[in-house]
Amino acid sequence: MRRISPAMYYAFPNPAPKEHLLSALLRYTRFSPSSNFPNAVKMISPDTSGMGAGRPYRKVYGDICALFDQHHPDHQLLEQHTLFRYFQPFEPFQNALKINTPRIPGGIRVQTQWRWCVACAEEDMEMYGFHSLHTDHQLPGNCLCERHQTPLTFRCLACQGAWLDLADFAGDPRLPERCPHCAGKLGGRELPDNPTVHWVRDISFGLLEGRVRIPPMYQLRAAYRRFIGLEQRPTTRTVATNRVLAEANRYVRDQIDCDAANYFFRCFASKQNSSSTRAVLPLTKAAYEEMAVLHPVIHLLLIRTIFGDINNIPMTGVGNDDHSTLSASKTICA
Ligand SMILES: [Zn+2]
Ligand SMILES: [Zn+2]
Repeated sequence: MRRISPAMYYAFPNPAPKEHLLSALLRYTRFSPSSNFPNAVKMISPDTSGMGAGRPYRKVYGDICALFDQHHPDHQLLEQHTLFRYFQPFEPFQNALKINTPRIPGGIRVQTQWRWCVACAEEDMEMYGFHSLHTDHQLPGNCLCERHQTPLTFRCLACQGAWLDLADFAGDPRLPERCPHCAGKLGGRELPDNPTVHWVRDISFGLLEGRVRIPPMYQLRAAYRRFIGLEQRPTTRTVATNRVLAEANRYVRDQIDCDAANYFFRCFASKQNSSSTRAVLPLTKAAYEEMAVLHPVIHLLLIRTIFGDINNIPMTGVGNDDHSTLSASKTICA
């Protein structure tokens, strides 16, 4: 671990209650003698590039936590000031502070852009004297401020420019009001009035706030497998097993909420077709590949499509085997 001098510890600001850890880092770099953003970050961490909103974990989180470790347990900072609690239930990693994950693939719209709410920014300025980027605004696929129910700002409506890297904010302590490239008006995206979109969003907030729990991944995988009807992935495919897998995938394709899938996924076609459904909701991979890292949005849409709700996910060993088969799920979701 890098040794941190006491002077650097005192210079690093406490994150505001809703502030993302990287937003506090941004404020820290403004006090740095170096006006160059990566050089200022290097005072704390070698992890300086590509600071988007969509990565679950990265080395710089651990390096910032090391500055605080006398006063905060590491996970408290991660849980309160990053998307840790949203991503963690779905992934196989053991120690979030020791890994540097790439962005989880999945082709999710609106997850890499930094987003902010104009009304929240005004409140922050009044209460704390600075603007900050909020953690919950960065939930993948989220484009609405939960507190103010207004669209989040994340792009220029004229040139479509967006803030993809924290370094893009380095020049100005205030959040931008106009596009720095073309002076165009800034805006975001409307949240569609779609029950599945709202469900995914509600669960996402619940996970982040610790109000919602999903079953552990081994239970969720077991539920997918029992829904498919094959406890193990067949080592050699036969006509019979192919048919079982195809039927499960066809069910997902027929039942998926296409408007919701189009809202969340860039690559989902407007018409239901089997290749795009398999691409965005890879059921077989989710069910049988234990080390596969799938985006939480993928799991949430699979859960919604197959089981209807988290409470309906059949748990192994609790005597409700009959509810987990493909035919029974059809009636649950009908
Ligand atoms: Zn707001
Ligand atoms: Zn512009």
